[in-house]
Amino acid sequence: SNERDRYIELTPKSKAAWEEAKQYLPGGDSRNSIFWPPYPIFVEGAKGAHVVDADGTDRLDFIGTMTTLILGHAPEPVVDAVRGQLEQGVVYNAPNRQQVRLAKLLCERIPSFDLVRFTNSGTEATLNTIRAARAFTGRSQIAKAEGGYHGSHDVVSVSVRVDPSKAGERLHPDAMAATEGLADGVLDSVVVIPFNETGPAREILEKHKNDLAAIIVEPMLGSVGMLPATHEFLGMLRDFATENGVVLIFDEVISFRIAPGGSQEYYGITPDMTSLGKIIGGGFAVGAFGGREDIMELHGLREVGQELEVPVQVTGLGSLFGIHFQDDTLVGYRDLARADSAFRHNVFLGLLNEGILMAPNLVGAVSNGRGRGGG
Ligand code: PLP
Repeated sequence: SNERDRYIELTPKSKAAWEEAKQYLPGGDSRNSIFWPPYPIFVEGAKGAHVVDADGTDRLDFIGTMTTLILGHAPEPVVDAVRGQLEQGVVYNAPNRQQVRLAKLLCERIPSFDLVRFTNSGTEATLNTIRAARAFTGRSQIAKAEGGYHGSHDVVSVSVRVDPSKAGERLHPDAMAATEGLADGVLDSVVVIPFNETGPAREILEKHKNDLAAIIVEPMLGSVGMLPATHEFLGMLRDFATENGVVLIFDEVISFRIAPGGSQEYYGITPDMTSLGKIIGGGFAVGAFGGREDIMELHGLREVGQELEVPVQVTGLGSLFGIHFQDDTLVGYRDLARADSAFRHNVFLGLLNEGILMAPNLVGAVSNGRGRGGG
């Protein structure tokens, strides 16, 4: 496409950096979830809501490190605090009062948090919530929603970003491996429910009620498109879990931004356990797990779509949003997976060329960080 040619013209240094990176890193990076064909931009630095690439192009950042940076890049108070801590040492192998301060703050804010333990990533947080649920219930199966992303350990690497045409019925999805290399038996230990399909999901859960240790769910399907759960769906999960002694886990790694107490405060539904990551570390490698607003009017995007006669819908809550060039009803993962990916990719490249940084699947987060020019 024209946008692709323009992108290549604008980013020669990123291309060269990528050619070198591929010699040492598979795919040229340490993670492949944000891979931007034909190759990614290489970032030289970032401040506030602005990111500058290897060729010196300044872009407005709507990714914010996958929603992590609500204050933008390198906010002065955070940089000062980190600099101060670096001088005191960063790892002691002994308890410290800083950790207690953060733990207290989170326990005061999050309805389901009586106690919290910190990890290094969201992946470890969800892994530990599931392990705790198994230990607590003495059962081993877990249920997850189709399309829900919970990190990269085995039992959650199932039915996320898989091709729906190969994954059984919409209302009765099969457990599908999202990657090669899963241990034998993993798929048998996972029950997949259709997101936001309250009745069919409950029917599936009922069949497994004696074997389920936990239900893990993102209150808003995050990385596949910022699609909020309905109150009815989450309420059903809460009721089912209570009635059957199943541990309800909200994965709030992304959705914690929605309210001071996370989306559980917004929905008024309290899970038994919650996993956190991203934003609570402000860009540093931190996760946590613990036990027990309005859809933003996004820059008038819907109105612009109407003017241009392009079907467009914006989903999300608070400062988290997904853009979907579809006019059909968006209920669950299957609807999001119907998107015209070539069109979406072209929009993504067009935005990149115009200086707007968004994830290729057009999900984003608004940060309040000031930009280079105070922007
Ligand atoms: N859970 C959710 C909802 C996420 O969006 C992510 C990361 O994108 C994770 C868990 C995994 O977190 P991490 O990448 O820190 O392991």
